[in-house]
Amino acid sequence: MRKIIIYIALVIGICFIIPIFLTVKFKVKEVATENKIILDIEKYAYSDFGTIRLLHKNTSEIEEVPLDEYVTAVVSAEIPVDYDIEAIKAQSVATRTYTIYKIIHGSKHENADICDDASCCQAWISRENRIEKWGENGIDNMNKIIQAVNATVGEVITYEGQIINAFFHSNSGGKTETVSNVWGGTDLPYLQAVETAGEEEYSQYSSEVTFTKEELLNKLKESYKDIQIDFGNNESIKILELTDGNRVKTIRLGNKELSGVEARRIFGLKSANFNVTIKDEKITFKVTGNGHGVGMSQTGADALAKQGKTYKEILSHFYTGIDITKFN
Ligand SMILES: [Zn+2]
Repeated sequence: MRKIIIYIALVIGICFIIPIFLTVKFKVKEVATENKIILDIEKYAYSDFGTIRLLHKNTSEIEEVPLDEYVTAVVSAEIPVDYDIEAIKAQSVATRTYTIYKIIHGSKHENADICDDASCCQAWISRENRIEKWGENGIDNMNKIIQAVNATVGEVITYEGQIINAFFHSNSGGKTETVSNVWGGTDLPYLQAVETAGEEEYSQYSSEVTFTKEELLNKLKESYKDIQIDFGNNESIKILELTDGNRVKTIRLGNKELSGVEARRIFGLKSANFNVTIKDEKITFKVTGNGHGVGMSQTGADALAKQGKTYKEILSHFYTGIDITKFN
């Protein structure tokens, strides 16, 4: 009798339950196909970004500029023109990608896609002003930038078919940083901490800032009114934790614990990669690198170009697992 029950249970299992599992699995697959993610590259045409609305912060004027003309102006403002052409091409693709990402994902500005303020969006300078500032080599320099932009027209950086948020900065200090360590939130797979050799050769690699004890306290008081530091105690100013990119994650300053990013802001440091020493009346921050450290490092791009890397190899170094995709 018991055996019969087991047989019946087995038959029910084979005939009904297993097919239910198979059907459910099959249905899930179907739904996934129906809700297929449309890739940015399929969704948009290059002509969708033909003209961008550029906000001039000083005058509040909005200017309509062809995309690649805007990219040329930004590249001429953002990266030293004596860098290797492959580094400038890498900057051109990063700038174009960053711009289109901003347009797709919503601008910070009303009625404009992007502004000309480096601390908000991207640096920008008019062609005439740029040539004038370069002086003697103005025209040749501009031609070099135009050549780099033209060589990459239509190209953007994508990750699994989606246009990426292509952050860039001046000098990584040897290692870039993950997004969450700078702006919080969740990390992005294509923005990992990566190491680059040769960045120490550039002037942007190291800097130093010194304060008296009083100056240091006054700077802190602007943000933390109840700050107290016992300078006689060796433990009162101490780096407590580092990030994946070797930057300061947490620093103790008297009765406060601050993030490295916050300390960088308060003391006006070039990066959050620093150490701090107290000698007599002076507190000195020795800083490595320049900028937030996320994405492509410009000096790193130049160092890689001088080692013989192409702009595509440079971009793949700084943005993990990406493709360079050309719009039709
Ligand atoms: Zn802006």
